[in-house]
Amino acid sequence: MSEKNIEKQEIQLERLRSPAIKDLLNQGWNTAVFACGAVEQHGPHLPLFMDAEHGTFLALAVAQKIGKTLVAPTIRIGCSNHHMAFAGSLTLRKSTFEAMVSDYVSSLAHHGFKRVFIIPSHGGNFGPLKEMLPALQQLVPGVKVKAFTDLEGTIKTWRQGIEVLSGLGSRVGGHADIAETSIMLHMHPELVRMDLAEPGFANEIKGEVFEKLIREGLHVLAPNGILGDARGATPEMGTVLIDNLARHVAEYFLGK
Ligand SMILES: [Zn+2]
Repeated sequence: MSEKNIEKQEIQLERLRSPAIKDLLNQGWNTAVFACGAVEQHGPHLPLFMDAEHGTFLALAVAQKIGKTLVAPTIRIGCSNHHMAFAGSLTLRKSTFEAMVSDYVSSLAHHGFKRVFIIPSHGGNFGPLKEMLPALQQLVPGVKVKAFTDLEGTIKTWRQGIEVLSGLGSRVGGHADIAETSIMLHMHPELVRMDLAEPGFANEIKGEVFEKLIREGLHVLAPNGILGDARGATPEMGTVLIDNLARHVAEYFLGK
């Protein structure tokens, strides 16, 4: 394959023909990456598919950094019970999510993928993935299954990125904030209502606050559905945030 052809190689599994996938597997393209997103409220200004769409962008960027890697379809609905007070949010029970991820990974292993890397692009999926990972690894012996389950690391990467680019790092709260709004401005600017971007819950989401959020629902902390502050977002920052996080995640997958 010439370098030009490699550049043009389609890497989304669902867009490829089956014989082409077989050829790629035979040529050592035996790593698959996929994201677990969400379709849930993202404040008054962002569309519901924020995390699902971001997951696909992230998985594509991670795959390009790893090389010889195919991107399998994003699981678009996630564990979003804590967003159900807001119209339109969809959720899976944890058991449904676990069953989906298990069957999905088994399918990839069946076709000869030797490494399966999972990227949660929605906060509510990190915990369930972390918990189920040992069982998932046992399910497909001989396949290296990894999941990036460092939610605080994700937020930290965003905060550092936004701080360097604009000095507004303190506006990163992790949900429908300046970071996610910037990412959506990069992906689909026509779907963002910047005139409705506003501040939300301002304190850090960790420890007991995170527990409360999951137990009682996000609306209890943030009636407008925003954790952090959405003001000041730009598409340029979104471009950088996707690349920064993709690099961080790719390094994690390629580590021990
Ligand atoms: Zn989100």
